[in-house]
Amino acid sequence: MEFFDFLNESVSPWHTVECLRRVFLSKGFVERRLSDGAALESGAAYVFVRGAALVALRMPLQVNDKSRFRLALAHTDFPALKVSPNPDRTAAGACTLHAEVYGSPIYSSWLDRDLGYAGLLAFEKDGCVQTKLLRGSKLFRIPSLAVHLNRGVNQDGTKVDPQADFNALWQSATADGKASAFADALQGELGVAGRLLDFDVQLFDAQPAARGGFNDEWIYSGRLDNLGSCHAAAQALVGSAASANDFCVACFYNNEEVGSETREGAGGNLLRSVLETVWNAVNAGKTGFVSLSAILEESFALSVDAAHAVHPNHPEKHDTNHSPVLGGGIVLKTNAQKRYASEAVSSARLRLLCEKTGVALQTFVMRNDMPCGSTVGPSVSSALGIPTVDIGEPMLSMHSIREMTAASDHEDMVRLLAEFFR
Ligand SMILES: [Zn+2]
Repeated sequence: MEFFDFLNESVSPWHTVECLRRVFLSKGFVERRLSDGAALESGAAYVFVRGAALVALRMPLQVNDKSRFRLALAHTDFPALKVSPNPDRTAAGACTLHAEVYGSPIYSSWLDRDLGYAGLLAFEKDGCVQTKLLRGSKLFRIPSLAVHLNRGVNQDGTKVDPQADFNALWQSATADGKASAFADALQGELGVAGRLLDFDVQLFDAQPAARGGFNDEWIYSGRLDNLGSCHAAAQALVGSAASANDFCVACFYNNEEVGSETREGAGGNLLRSVLETVWNAVNAGKTGFVSLSAILEESFALSVDAAHAVHPNHPEKHDTNHSPVLGGGIVLKTNAQKRYASEAVSSARLRLLCEKTGVALQTFVMRNDMPCGSTVGPSVSSALGIPTVDIGEPMLSMHSIREMTAASDHEDMVRLLAEFFR
């Protein structure tokens, strides 16, 4: 799967999962439900989907006392504006859509962009609730104030009041001044499939991903955090062969950007449920087999998420000895307050893997006078007891509607994860 196609198609977490699902199924993975209880075959590969989260797993050729899990963890979601349940307003000749803030976007980056809308529609058909993916074909907009009406903007910076400003203009108002109902437009998109009951729809940056830099060395796109990691993990797993003894797993969580404590998030039971189902299935009929917890303790996870490259115009924002650069290779993320799961032993395992793969490794710690972000690594590692290291591709403009990374770092990540699964 081409990285740019993946970036351009994954316009909501549900679309990310649909893209991943399609790729895995096209490469011989079989979709299973936790409840179906069917036997799992040695050397075969499976996917389990829960909403906008997905677990893909390749079985070993044989399960024995050497068998372990090798896990790559990433997340399908990204900061966005989510259309609120009753979004319709009118003002000054325009119908606007009120949106809630999802995660921590850079607010000002959402102004003056061509905004698409995408997500999941829930509708009634024959008395049952069904769902359909939606990607709208129209472009909306949140215009900034003209400089003449906001004279201080260049001195004070663009101040965005999320309640007042996150109302996207989506069509001109009718002559009688009544608000058009966005739900009616969604019903129109749904057509005869059924009667719309509810929706999870968010706005996204409609500009396609592009190569940048004089030597085409950079990638500019929305959603690089964390579609870069999702793409790398998926590419590595579909390209791998079954291991002699180990289970190779890629877990794509939803809701990392809002703290992961959801059914589809890293704080939920998704991964444990899948691994338990698999472990119980392969040990069915055996007596005295080792518990899943004991195997997880001996297993290893790479938590893959975006990393902060040092900004050439603001090098003072990084610690001098921990300033990863674009194009400088994979970043190992550590934090003494344990906002990352990395510790000496898991980091050492990563260093060996990087040496074996031939990719450069850079290190990141946040400055002591700035708070550190986090990711799925600490949740998964603490809940399941898996030794874990937090890594990522360096990027600039993280959580802007349009981010920037280096093509070579993404290629390194694909190679590193491929080696991990080899
Ligand atoms: Zn992220």
